Amino acid sequence: MTIPALDTIVAYASICFAILGAFLAAIWLSLIIWTFRDMRARSRDPFAQILATLVVALLPGVGLIVYLILRPPETLAEAYERALEEEALLQEIEERPACPGCSRTVDNNWLLCAHCHTRLRKACPDCNALMELQWNICPHCGNDHIDPYYVGPQVVLADDLVADEEAQKDSVEAENILAEDDFSVSEEVEQFSQPDTTS
Ligand SMILES: [Zn+2]
Ligand SMILES: [Zn+2]
Repeated sequence: MTIPALDTIVAYASICFAILGAFLAAIWLSLIIWTFRDMRARSRDPFAQILATLVVALLPGVGLIVYLILRPPETLAEAYERALEEEALLQEIEERPACPGCSRTVDNNWLLCAHCHTRLRKACPDCNALMELQWNICPHCGNDHIDPYYVGPQVVLADDLVADEEAQKDSVEAENILAEDDFSVSEEVEQFSQPDTTS
């Protein structure tokens, strides 16, 4: 086995180094281009785009790690999508019907507010479909003989029932007192009108 000449070894080595160098340069260049594109997708600021590209270009390897740590967490497209989602969510919340009495969220199919008992809708007397309170024609069955102030069978609350009973009791007692008064008055009148038997 013959030892190859030094020139040959140097020639091979330089070829290998040249290939390696070209390979590294290609990676370096593509990383710079990738950084520029990635930063452009994440920020509209041209200064930030150039700075990020320069950091990656001037500090090969370390610059990329620094960039990956410091780059904005989401792309402009992602931020836009998130904003759209938030807007849609907000709109959904705003469109949810609220009780005019207590402002709490109510269901579209409720006749009364479950929280404060405010009347929210009325039922058509013919087809029982739900209607807005101010409607005077039923859009479901065409019934146009609806009093716009008719809100369906009156709902009596438990408190009102108790109050009614107390009011009835009070009026009965008042009548009794009045009747007693009448009785005593008529007795007196009778006594006065009786002819004097002593004389
Ligand atoms: Zn309410
Ligand atoms: Zn109807």
